[in-house]
Amino acid sequence: MVTIKWHKDCKYMGLDYEYTLKDLARFHGHLGPYIVLGYKMGRFIFENVCKNPFAVKALVFCSGQTPKSCLADGIQLGSGCTFGKRNIEIEISDDVYAEFTVSDKVYRLKPYPLKEIDKENKDYELEIEKMSEEIYYMENSELFSCEIVENRKKRIKRECI
Ligand SMILES: [Zn+2]
Repeated sequence: MVTIKWHKDCKYMGLDYEYTLKDLARFHGHLGPYIVLGYKMGRFIFENVCKNPFAVKALVFCSGQTPKSCLADGIQLGSGCTFGKRNIEIEISDDVYAEFTVSDKVYRLKPYPLKEIDKENKDYELEIEKMSEEIYYMENSELFSCEIVENRKKRIKRECI
């Protein structure tokens, strides 16, 4: 991971910016529930835990395939962890959640299941957009849980003893 020194006179370090629905859609190519959900999760970490995008590492647990992997795009925009900086990774898993490591603490954010939209619906894409818009304006507490779990390194250490 890149480490960069903080300089008080730099104008563009660790900017706070609230992405609009349009920003999210522009970055991702369409508006889907997982990019919005990921954005809310990343933003939650940015606002409540760490505003330095170099001091957080995100691990995104999901199927590794769209639409669930779209979560990673939202998490990048919300948290500032990016694939280019190498502080976000996808880990293949049956469950969908993300872990954010900040110093020795690991925050596990687990989304609640999303409502299913019938793929046979002729307005499927439109329904997906509407649902994504709704998610954007929902409270975080309605969307995901957050718990602090033990640091992975410590867990492994303990298992070895
Ligand atoms: Zn998507």
